[in-house]
Amino acid sequence: MKRNRRVKIVATLGPASSEPDIIRRLFEAGADVFRINMSHASGDKLTELVRAIRKIEADMGRPIGILVDLQGPKLRVGEFTDERAELPEGSVFQFDVDKSPGNAQRVHLPHPEIFEAVEPGHSLILDDGKLRMTVREASKESITAEVVVGGPLASRKGISLPDTVLPFGAMTEKDRADLEQAVNLGADWIGLSFVQRGDDVAEARKLSRGRVAIMTKVEKPAAIEHLDAILEQSDGLMVARGDLGVEMPLESVPGLQKRITRACRNSGKPVVVATQMLESMISAPVPTRAEVSDVATAVYDGADAVMLSAESAAGQYPIEAVATMDSIAIEVERDENYGRIVHSQQITPEATGADAISAAAHNIAETLNLAAIVCYTGSGSTGQRAARERPRQPIVALTPIASTGRRLAVVWGLHCVLTSDAEDLDEMVDKACRIAYREGFASRGQRVIVSAGVPLGTPGATNMLRVAFVGENETENI
Ligand code: PGA
Ligand code: MN
Repeated sequence: MKRNRRVKIVATLGPASSEPDIIRRLFEAGADVFRINMSHASGDKLTELVRAIRKIEADMGRPIGILVDLQGPKLRVGEFTDERAELPEGSVFQFDVDKSPGNAQRVHLPHPEIFEAVEPGHSLILDDGKLRMTVREASKESITAEVVVGGPLASRKGISLPDTVLPFGAMTEKDRADLEQAVNLGADWIGLSFVQRGDDVAEARKLSRGRVAIMTKVEKPAAIEHLDAILEQSDGLMVARGDLGVEMPLESVPGLQKRITRACRNSGKPVVVATQMLESMISAPVPTRAEVSDVATAVYDGADAVMLSAESAAGQYPIEAVATMDSIAIEVERDENYGRIVHSQQITPEATGADAISAAAHNIAETLNLAAIVCYTGSGSTGQRAARERPRQPIVALTPIASTGRRLAVVWGLHCVLTSDAEDLDEMVDKACRIAYREGFASRGQRVIVSAGVPLGTPGATNMLRVAFVGENETENI
């Protein structure tokens, strides 16, 4: 199975998409990576979902990425009877330490630190800015607030306190436990929430010990300030527009999205644009014009992936949401201006073998009008450097390591195939041609360019390029 687009799609799983049959249909509709949000999923649910995804992966014969998104020190309200309550504007609402389910008058707030730190006059922002309150009174056991902007509030929705200084570290106990479980289950990416400095990422890196790739979610003003250090420590970034748009002025988000996307593209690390991309599809089978335009903008920016949150996790039209993203991406990438816009950001190769080879492969593929670029990649780094070039030709990344193929599922333009390392140079070129043919990227008589490191299996030693014909008989190379 091959996608007809270069940008990847990340789909969040949730109550609307927990059944294996739905997950399979999401994959078929275009989801390349599945995200499991540990703010909502239990440990048992995580195990169940990872197993279901790996079964679909085996059935489909394609690597699928799994991103386990850690909750981080995100503050959330407790549970409501009937899962939600309607809070009218002008009413008085109380947050307290009582664990019993809430109603239109009160709810549990499971963060004792807030009661200590909040003061009268401070703002409370709930559910990504949909509701706003002003604190009237605060004690060690309750906060009384006036509802300034009302609406429905559901169980476990987020609460932000832009005026209040809260003493929190980067990872909670729950995050550490979830990280360990995710690693043991073979997750490919960990999402790190509410990171403020490079050191926060370094801490997670120490805990993960290279067993999982780290995607840092940029969603705090401090993370923007320390973007370079954070990017340096991370394997990829997410433009987490939900919380970013709560913590920063909304109108600054589009510019920040461009800045983060460009920084990632320059460093050759994947970037995911997330949140509210097709929000209205939670309850409608078609998106708004503005949403289509938003997804298109991320694709024109050359983002590695676009993401669905509630649309696929809790909406009424999860499959349609993925299919809609897929069609938008295909159409944008077909636009005659797409290549020009993506390449308006100049990417200069670094002084490494992998970069020199990637730039040359791209160049040769253009000059000779080749059908595809095929690269052997062990760690995934050569695949990422090839994608960094954003070539017009398809990139087929061959790897003997299953986890590499899965990690690269989020990277722009990479079609990964799991295959054993070749014995010698001839077999390597032959295999590259056969796979490019079999996977539908080159027909007989067309040529591809193959990059690899010789001797084979030496990490970080990409040093060879070969132009080869795909044979009349696809098992031979002429
Ligand atoms: P969340 O992260 O869905 O876990 O809050 C994404 C965002 O903030 O945009
Ligand atoms: Mn967030």
